[in-house]
Amino acid sequence: MVSSAVLGFPRIGAFRELKKNTEAYWSGKIDAEQLLKVGKDIREKNWKLQKEAGVDIIPSNDFSFYDHVLDLSILFNVIPDRYTKYELSSLDTFFAMARGLQRKASETTKAVDVPALEMVKWFDANYHYVRPTFSKSTNFKLNGQKPVDEYLEAKALGIETRPVLVGPVSYLFLGKADKDSLDLEPISLLEKLLPLYVEILKKLADAGAKVVQIDEPTLVLDLPENVKAAFQTAYSKLAAAEGLPELILTTYFGDVRPNLDAIKELPVSGFHFDFVRTPEQFDDVVSIVGDKTLSVGIVDGRNIWKNNFAESVDFVKKAIAKVGADKIIVATSSSLLHTPVDLANEKKLDAEIKNWFSFATQKVDEVVTITKAIAGEDVAAKLEENAAAIKSRKESKITNNPEVRKRTSEAQADESMSKRHSDFPTRLVSQKAKYNLPLFPTTTIGSFPQTKEIRINRNKFNKGEISAEEYEKFINSEMETVVKFQEEIGLDVLVHGEPERNDMVQYFGEKLNGFAFTTNGWVQSYGSRYVRPPIIVGDVDRPAAMTVKESVYAQSLTKKPMKGMLTGPVTILRWSFPRDDVTQKVQSYQLSLALRDEVNDLEKAGITVIQVDEPAIREGLPLRAGSERSDYLQWAAESFRIATSGVEDSTQIHSHFCYSDLDPNHIKALDADVVSIEFSKKDDPNYIQEFSNYPNHIGLGLFDIHSPRIPSKEEFIARIGEILKVYPADKFWVNPDCGLKTRGWEETRASLTNMVDAAKYYRGKY
Ligand code: GLN
Ligand code: ZN
Repeated sequence: MVSSAVLGFPRIGAFRELKKNTEAYWSGKIDAEQLLKVGKDIREKNWKLQKEAGVDIIPSNDFSFYDHVLDLSILFNVIPDRYTKYELSSLDTFFAMARGLQRKASETTKAVDVPALEMVKWFDANYHYVRPTFSKSTNFKLNGQKPVDEYLEAKALGIETRPVLVGPVSYLFLGKADKDSLDLEPISLLEKLLPLYVEILKKLADAGAKVVQIDEPTLVLDLPENVKAAFQTAYSKLAAAEGLPELILTTYFGDVRPNLDAIKELPVSGFHFDFVRTPEQFDDVVSIVGDKTLSVGIVDGRNIWKNNFAESVDFVKKAIAKVGADKIIVATSSSLLHTPVDLANEKKLDAEIKNWFSFATQKVDEVVTITKAIAGEDVAAKLEENAAAIKSRKESKITNNPEVRKRTSEAQADESMSKRHSDFPTRLVSQKAKYNLPLFPTTTIGSFPQTKEIRINRNKFNKGEISAEEYEKFINSEMETVVKFQEEIGLDVLVHGEPERNDMVQYFGEKLNGFAFTTNGWVQSYGSRYVRPPIIVGDVDRPAAMTVKESVYAQSLTKKPMKGMLTGPVTILRWSFPRDDVTQKVQSYQLSLALRDEVNDLEKAGITVIQVDEPAIREGLPLRAGSERSDYLQWAAESFRIATSGVEDSTQIHSHFCYSDLDPNHIKALDADVVSIEFSKKDDPNYIQEFSNYPNHIGLGLFDIHSPRIPSKEEFIARIGEILKVYPADKFWVNPDCGLKTRGWEETRASLTNMVDAAKYYRGKY
């Protein structure tokens, strides 16, 4: 018979219990025992919820206090020496690797000062994992038995689970060599690592686990030949070991076809594929299943839309026709980690729109309902209800705005919409004449410290405790402070400081048509950092100007140019839950037109230096090289240009990028007059070199805004000196890495003063 499966459930708790308690533990307010208890309670709740919903295959070991990849590093003792010399508890070692640890010596403990391991994006999700970091001296051995403990914990509650483990090839490939072993290729450690997989799998089998979900998501990437070959080596070895559980090789987030050869003969008992993301792979991937189990990923683990039951049932039936009903599992496409916990906790959503959504708890029910429908059980009422919700969304005025649709397709067809009037050298002439900026112009990225006072006033305003006039007055006074400060220290292009913005995406989402917001829709981004993405529910347009009032007020306070400050179309799209009923490209174009209107309005109001931030442009890059990727690059750049090309030559368009290694060619395609990029932590000289041919103007970030550390004037001088060795002086802007909103005023004042002084020093020399 067909069975149902969930690949993983959110671990943060319905009300962010995990965050609150981990942070309480870090600050010493609760002890380890209390924190461990919180974890246990969350696991119990999650398992029971799935059991009661009727899920056949419930995951265990999907819980983590920070990151499940880091859990594996602890399990396999992949712990760099720098973390072991302080005699920390296992839990504290884990957190030290996750986030670094600085602690002064006390009577009972030694001083500790160790930075975190590198944290990187988990494929194209907004989740980040702690990178396994291998050294020649890594001493592989089992360290505890977390997967077994959690399996037994569920068993004690009367719940049989299927433990989840990231598989050996992905675990190694997602890792890197530590700085003492740079010539070490992680995949070469396979032989050393495999015995530990055998050992832990054996323990799981002994504890009673019949099947283990082994995640090999790297199979959706372009893999080097030796990594492809590693699958055969690894899984033959596991198959040869006695007494291990069955393995379901699990892939998600994309297309496995290019790597099908690497896995087609693997001695595993089944495969899982993501048919939400890549339904087109069906025929090819099913052809390798043979008499194995096929887990059909059909309920979206990455987005919040209600499943379309009619379509899913048809899809699963197609799979049954190929491999037979008793070989089929109906499953979530990936872990539900990437979706908010429970829609039932949303009390403020419009009822019509809420009826289109499904969060993790609802998705669990969806998997069960689809399975029941296939089995011929009576779920007619649920199917009808579902069909009605799908229909309501399809026919809603919110999802179909003919005017927006028309304008979007006209803009796509009209090349002049995405082209400035003149090329950069011509624009530069008018801009030079207009602004007359000195050599090494100084500026900042936009936000200034978001002080407690700002947050308090925003809260009061949101709760109706202060009036709109009072709030405006407060925001104005904040801008006055920021402008006065920038003039005092001698910055050249000023900003208003963004005191009115809670978040660079949410702020715009709230002002645009087509967005919905949750009150509790948190999703883990990393560790105790959760985000609450806006949801793009319909066609997007701009009912009124969004930023003109603040920018104009700020400009009225100074004679220096005031930069208008907007978030770009791709970043708004990437940091929201996108629609799944129109392409991301169309959503991006709709956003770009709304932003174009804003850019033009700013220009009309006299704001003629305008920055459009696109920090997320790199993370939207499709996982594989090929047409999807080149397509993306094309529409992402074009969206930016549509937003920014409706202005005069003399209007100076800035853009800003951070969070990732950028390719100068991608940025070039945006044709911004000035770009600023995060740079201060890049010590690779090639990276400067790569950017030295960038044709327009550029500011390479000069200090890390994540740290309270204040670089001295000399340090700035040295840093700029390094850059000027490869970079032409007349193209170079002087600015920090990113916005200053998380910093305090004291260090902001000191760092910016030193930065401006260093620029002045170089002006004297050229
Ligand atoms: N203008 C934004 C700020 O300064 C940019 C933030 C970002 O790039 N993440 O806060
Ligand atoms: Zn930034």
